[in-house]
Amino acid sequence: MITLELRSALATLATADHLLVAVDFDGTLAPLVEHADDARPLPAAAAALRSLAGVPGTATALISGRALDSLRAVATPEPETLLVGSHGAETWTGPNAEPLQLTPEQADLLARARAAVAEVAEACAGCRVEDKPAGVVLHTRSASDGDASAAVEAARARLGELDGVQVTDGKRVLEASVVHANKGEGILALRELTGATAVLFAGDDVTDEKGFAVLEPGDVGIKVGPGETAAEFRVESPAEFAAVLEHLHELRLAAVGN
Ligand SMILES: [Mg+2]
Repeated sequence: MITLELRSALATLATADHLLVAVDFDGTLAPLVEHADDARPLPAAAAALRSLAGVPGTATALISGRALDSLRAVATPEPETLLVGSHGAETWTGPNAEPLQLTPEQADLLARARAAVAEVAEACAGCRVEDKPAGVVLHTRSASDGDASAAVEAARARLGELDGVQVTDGKRVLEASVVHANKGEGILALRELTGATAVLFAGDDVTDEKGFAVLEPGDVGIKVGPGETAAEFRVESPAEFAAVLEHLHELRLAAVGN
């Protein structure tokens, strides 16, 4: 259900001179699924985001923990959609955007982080390792609760010995990155790039809290699903969030006089 308070905030947001609509993918635009490759945006949400991108003075972006390649494969974003991947370590802002380049030191550190996480995963039934351009992820979704927490703690200890590795917790994942970035920095960069005077940001996971933390008065932060949050608003599910996007699109069209 979209609360009256959220409706009112969206109505004000829709009148912004330059609006940025930046959304997380998994658990926000797309329902959570067992296998990450199977995730797809809800058709209503994808359509509403595409429509918003077509409104003058309105920019759209996906801000995901996924590597950019993985995000593109599941989200099939419109060419005008800006992309922030790997929690901010990778960005795509158009055809002239520079790809991520690791320094030799970062590449060496990444190799050591990968080796450490791989060793932990080998000793854990149901654990899986995912390589990303600037990091490595330990997935524990298919492990027992006991094995999962033991593996996460072991990996955290091993990674803690590597100077310069940033460790981030997510839902049944532990992620190590050699590029220090988070979704908050991603939003700040997008705000600057697009000249946005107001931002909508929505996300479902703990890593999205860094995004909510950089929002300003007049912005709208929406937490999708349960869990503690600094976001001012909450919806229950990706389906409800799709309705938010549809409503915002109507308001935005009316506000810019189309
Ligand atoms: Mg998410």
